Amino acid sequence: MVTALLGRRLSVLLAIGLSITANELMVQREDALDSAVNAALFAAVSWTIAEVCRRLGGALRTARALSRDLAMREMLLDTILTSVPVVTLDREGRTQRVTPAAAAVLGVRRDEAMALPFHTLVPGFDDLALESARQGGEVLTPSPGSWTVSRADASPVPLTIHANVLPDDIWPEHVVLALADQSQAEAIRQRERDLTERLNNVWRLNSMGEMAATLAHEMNQPLTAAAVYLHAGQADLAKIGPAAEEAARALDLARIQLLRAGDIIRRMRELLSTGSRTFTEERASQMIQDLAPVFTLIGRDTDVVIDIDADTEDDHVMADRIQLQQALANLVKNAVDAAMGREDGRVLITGRSLGPEGYEIAVEDNGRGIPMDQRESIFHPMTSTKAGGMGLGLSVTRSIVESHGGALTVGSSRLGGAAFTFRLPHRSELDAA
Ligand code: ADP
Repeated sequence: MVTALLGRRLSVLLAIGLSITANELMVQREDALDSAVNAALFAAVSWTIAEVCRRLGGALRTARALSRDLAMREMLLDTILTSVPVVTLDREGRTQRVTPAAAAVLGVRRDEAMALPFHTLVPGFDDLALESARQGGEVLTPSPGSWTVSRADASPVPLTIHANVLPDDIWPEHVVLALADQSQAEAIRQRERDLTERLNNVWRLNSMGEMAATLAHEMNQPLTAAAVYLHAGQADLAKIGPAAEEAARALDLARIQLLRAGDIIRRMRELLSTGSRTFTEERASQMIQDLAPVFTLIGRDTDVVIDIDADTEDDHVMADRIQLQQALANLVKNAVDAAMGREDGRVLITGRSLGPEGYEIAVEDNGRGIPMDQRESIFHPMTSTKAGGMGLGLSVTRSIVESHGGALTVGSSRLGGAAFTFRLPHRSELDAA
């Protein structure tokens, strides 16, 4: 038995052989047949016992290995669960296990939270929700996907909870709840909402300013023409003589008012065109990269993928950062609008360093492109093909680019749509201009 428990089959055979030999030497047998039968019986019985012992030994070793393995797994699970907010509930909805991370999320001590009905920890997580967990797995949510837990420190924490029902033979735990603290995600969403609002405000303000400038420009011409016509009318009335004096005076008053209106508009244009331009030395690639969050906002709610590929070498330019970024954002917004209808909508913003030629920025898309005969007219103010479009973006963008000593051109993109390109001169060239 000892050999079977400790050794291999060969040792068992040896032990049996030695025992039979010793038995033969020590015990006197009647004849050879008696010896042989004795030896055979001894061998058979001891071999059977040895086999039973061997199997027993094997089973013991396996059991030990299994329980070691189980302990390791338990340890691993405990370690994993320490950092994962998980709560288990029994059939009555009382907490059975609360991991440290779950206690932290719920803002309670683990020992305090044990055996409590879960809805006392997360108000609103009611029996109805648990019932739905029992039936299907995913818990019904009272509001879009989240509960709010009010911690002792009074900061409400938005939570999402996913529930899984355990098999019936696991007892007493019945439901596993995986909690996820949504405060950070909620803060990011709030920040995104704020940013969108701010971007829209900036956009509105900028558009209003530019619209006023454009209107001023557009109205200046008809006003001047009206003044000229009035002047001509006055000259004609003068020929009639004193009878038309009254009318001529009225026309004169009208002409003075027109000139005044023109003056107001001129001053407004001056204010708008010179008031906010401040050129500083900028890195063009950085200006583009800094707009990445704005591009993300522009592309939000669309499937358009927006990529940036900007050379970082030799990219120093003189620019009014805000104005130039507004111009770029205008181009990207148009490009996203154009590519939006497509399944694989794509916009690419490239920045290329052209050595002494300056730095070239292109905004391309794989939208419908711009027909040859519209490539000039789209830059005219109030030209738009969009419902609700003001048709100011491109004219504003062009004037911003021109004020930077560049020129905005449009062509076809290798992506399949339109490509708007402009070049910014390096500092020395702008100074010389
Ligand atoms: P808005 O965007 O308000 O229409 P814009 O001056 O920015 O004003 O654009 C004028 C027109 O030029 C747009 O209505 C559109 O028809 C055309 N356009 C601008 N960019 C693109 C583009 N990337 N792809 C196709 N068409 C474009």
